[in-house]
Amino acid sequence: MTEYFGTNVEAIFGSMPERFKPDQVKDVDVTIGYDITGDGGGKWVVTIQQGTLKVEKISGDMPPCSVVVTANAETFVGGTLGKIDLATAMSAGKFKVNGDISIMTGIVPKAFKKFRIAGDDQKAEELISLKTATSIDQRFATGPHMGRWFKGLKEKKFYVSQCPSCGRTQVPPREVCAECVVRSDDFIEIGPKGTVANMDIVYYASPDPLTGKVRSTPYVTLYLWMDGSTPGECLSFDLNPKDTHRIKRGMRVRPVWNEIRTGGIDDLLYFEIDD
Ligand SMILES: [Zn+2]
Repeated sequence: MTEYFGTNVEAIFGSMPERFKPDQVKDVDVTIGYDITGDGGGKWVVTIQQGTLKVEKISGDMPPCSVVVTANAETFVGGTLGKIDLATAMSAGKFKVNGDISIMTGIVPKAFKKFRIAGDDQKAEELISLKTATSIDQRFATGPHMGRWFKGLKEKKFYVSQCPSCGRTQVPPREVCAECVVRSDDFIEIGPKGTVANMDIVYYASPDPLTGKVRSTPYVTLYLWMDGSTPGECLSFDLNPKDTHRIKRGMRVRPVWNEIRTGGIDDLLYFEIDD
């Protein structure tokens, strides 16, 4: 049997019964013909009928089918494994579907578990579930401007850069004023209180890509005009969860500091309503 990508056409059809998910196709009644050309090819007829499956290798002419797939063996195996892009193969005429294409795009993916080469299950499982966070011992250089910001947080202060040309503040500080394109090495202290310019209330949080953990929702990210900063230059930061259902635009907020401060982002816990 000629192999492609470490497997062959027979293995794909041979594994169909164990990959079949009858519950998914209880009301389905279709016949799919496969005309696989080239070394290791052949003709197969796959019948799905009210949750039952029949896979037959045939010789001679293809009987009437709901849909017929024609491909050479290499394209068929590569496409099944996801090693060959079937949309590209179709536009190149190497993978043809005659008949009701929705059977191939809708019913077949539902009716069968993905085909995997024996022994690759473990590998595939490892790829989709990362259970531990990678820890790399590294020293992260903040640079002078962010260094000043973090040093300020340790002292419960907000230091930002102020452009010597236009006077606007950048929160947190940046080395160059993005509007004047001049170095911005002067620092001023702003805050510590601010006014809520806008906010995001998040109900569906994305999982952390490293740990898979999802923070509890809803949570609020505030966009703040800090006292003394240029209007329009917002600091975005979390809101104390206790204020989630009371917060409104225009409200005054104050920072809540971590008791133990090390010159990092965790020095500032969140902002809360200043009342
Ligand atoms: Zn400027």
